[in-house]
Amino acid sequence: MTSPVLSVVIPMYNEELVISALVERLRPVLDQLGVGYEVVAVDDGSRDATAQLLLDAGRSWPQLRLIRLRSNSGHQAALTAGMQRALGGWIVTIDADLQDPPEVIADMLALARERGLDVVYGVRSDRSTDTVFKRRTAGLYYRVMRRIVGGEVPAQAGDFRLISRDVVEVLRRLPERAPVYRLLVPSLGFPSGEVAYVRERRVAGTTKYPLRKMVALAWDSTANFTAAPLRVATYLGLTAFLVCLAMVVLGMVAYANGTVIPGWTSLFLAVWLLAAVQLICLGLLGEYVSRIYRIVQNRPSFHIGFDSAAEPVQMEIPSQRTASPDPLSIP
Ligand code: UDP
Ligand code: MG
Repeated sequence: MTSPVLSVVIPMYNEELVISALVERLRPVLDQLGVGYEVVAVDDGSRDATAQLLLDAGRSWPQLRLIRLRSNSGHQAALTAGMQRALGGWIVTIDADLQDPPEVIADMLALARERGLDVVYGVRSDRSTDTVFKRRTAGLYYRVMRRIVGGEVPAQAGDFRLISRDVVEVLRRLPERAPVYRLLVPSLGFPSGEVAYVRERRVAGTTKYPLRKMVALAWDSTANFTAAPLRVATYLGLTAFLVCLAMVVLGMVAYANGTVIPGWTSLFLAVWLLAAVQLICLGLLGEYVSRIYRIVQNRPSFHIGFDSAAEPVQMEIPSQRTASPDPLSIP
């Protein structure tokens, strides 16, 4: 069997209410692309009829694959499973609830092929259908993350994106346990483009992202990209040390005035000084832990776009790109 040109990965958790609408809208879009494709539906441990409905739909839609996770492992884990199993030269990840319009997939593929890009982000130009709470928290999330990770993270780009096989291979080699793809993919630094789209209303059912999961995603995002929380100990330690210095002065003044209980000054100073020393040491430990963490993450610092010596080898890798093999065409 030849590999499909395109894989569409869809994580699903208790999405029985959206499946018929999804199939009805997605299938014509993919059929009209004129390329071989597969749909990889990842059932993330649903407790409703999601898997059964997908199996039923697959009977009349041979390109529909079903992957089931044994338990609810979360959106990003479901994406990992889908991307690892997908066979396509290009891989699109999209939500099941039709908030991301499938028609945009055609634009993403066309843009990637035309400009030889490895990544095309779907950027939400309008999210007026989301709740005020969702819009506010999302706005804050993207602002903070762009500061932490860098300006290469597009604002308002969730997990609706197209990536090339090369990107998938890099992602696959990373040892991260809780990847946050909307930050990880931009930080890899592949040539990328954007397609704007209007975020639609969830077609049926309710959000599968309660506050608990939103907070977990925000914490994974922070901890994966910055060691700043480890420095809290250092800052607390420095503060305690400054307080300690102020206490020395205060203690001496009190001692000179003779208004102090004997032993109070030395005891108080000892407590603060020890706290300061301990916190600073903890902060130092954090500095080394964060460096070890960077090494363990093993993220590549570059990607080779062309190597004349490796050309014969490269030619054997089936490439779905229409871009010419001219090294100068690599963006
Ligand atoms: N999802 C998942 N596992 C989870 C939570 C969500 O696979 O634990 C899927 C869900 O079925 C949907 C996508 O992730 O396809 C995005 O979730 P949702 O639309 O509920 O999030 P929202 O749009 O409300 O942020
Ligand atoms: Mg949604």
